[in-house]
Amino acid sequence: MVFKAFKLRLYPNKAQRNQIHVNFGCVRFVWNQMLNMHIERYKNNKKAPFQNAFAMNNMLKAMKLEYPWLKQAESTSLQVSNRDLNDAFQRFFDPSLQNGFPRFKSKKNANQSYTSKFVNNNIQVVDNHHIKLPKLGLMYFRGGRILEGKIKAVTISVNSRNQYEASVLVENENQVFKKTKKVVGIDLGLKNLSITSDGQKEDILKISDKLNKKLKIWERKKSRRLENAKKAMAFDEHEKVLFPRTELTQFPRYQQAKRTVAKIKKIANRRKDNLHKLTTKLVKEYDVIVVEDLSVKNMMKNHHLSASIANASWGTLVSQLKYKCEWHGKQLIIVDPKNTSRICHECKQKNHEFDDLTQNEWLNTREWDCPNCNSHLDRDVNAAKNILARGLETLF
Ligand SMILES: [Zn+2]
Repeated sequence: MVFKAFKLRLYPNKAQRNQIHVNFGCVRFVWNQMLNMHIERYKNNKKAPFQNAFAMNNMLKAMKLEYPWLKQAESTSLQVSNRDLNDAFQRFFDPSLQNGFPRFKSKKNANQSYTSKFVNNNIQVVDNHHIKLPKLGLMYFRGGRILEGKIKAVTISVNSRNQYEASVLVENENQVFKKTKKVVGIDLGLKNLSITSDGQKEDILKISDKLNKKLKIWERKKSRRLENAKKAMAFDEHEKVLFPRTELTQFPRYQQAKRTVAKIKKIANRRKDNLHKLTTKLVKEYDVIVVEDLSVKNMMKNHHLSASIANASWGTLVSQLKYKCEWHGKQLIIVDPKNTSRICHECKQKNHEFDDLTQNEWLNTREWDCPNCNSHLDRDVNAAKNILARGLETLF
């Protein structure tokens, strides 16, 4: 079993923000009270037994009676605070660690946090932008890559820049994939999303291209219809019509566009699943994967839609490969893509016949013969082989 954490940037609403800060305060209060209790006990009786986390949790009940506002706190977070204090004392007691005495927590510290334990599904990643958190309900988040696994706990924190973050701890079986002793180079292309050095071409962009066009059309319709609906509502109000329209639900054409956009987005998200399937397959199949450095890759100065989609998918593909390789015990190497499609992988000579081609001519060159050694080459597979060779050079 391995534990891993992933971070999400949280955007709490006002009520959620208040609750979070109430919780910071309660956890800090309990920590300081318990710490003080230990100090006083020791002062009174040097031989008083240490009160462990279990004993401290029992004291919580009495504490909640004395300070009823503590009930506002998410209850597991107070237990976690006791456990953390217990651990801090254990580290202090351990002479090999040379840890200092546990310290009081200050309200003035701009960085505050608390941790909730997972019980009865109180923590759930609902979708790509929403997480259910104990006592806070559904919260919007952005960024971060969600790791699969059993959720064990969540730590909610704020920093000095007033940014809120959730760090979600998950437990997972050790998912190191079997070694296959196979290596691969991948060329990222426009015609195919990816071409491997052993000739596998993945074509999952085409559908996405069509879909994206459809999405753009419907998003335009949606915003136009929204504008019209707003104008109509303003008109009704201004002209004091008998039954003024005041809700967007009263505009069926807008509602229809809204539903359609949502539906297309859902399908587009399924494409993302395809990307996930592809990257998992690659990581399973190969021990070493070599890709081009996208920040250097000569991006086509091309405003065509397919180019921008391909570009976005390349980024997603590489970032998925990055963390999946790490996760599954494989290696990802990133290389300079310079000239990888113009050098013959057989004789390593650059083909200068390409120098004078226009961009379109160059893009349409799918196969070529090497003027030096006469090898017949598939443009993309040749590039992938060069990328692989470049990656393997860095290994030795
Ligand atoms: Zn050659």
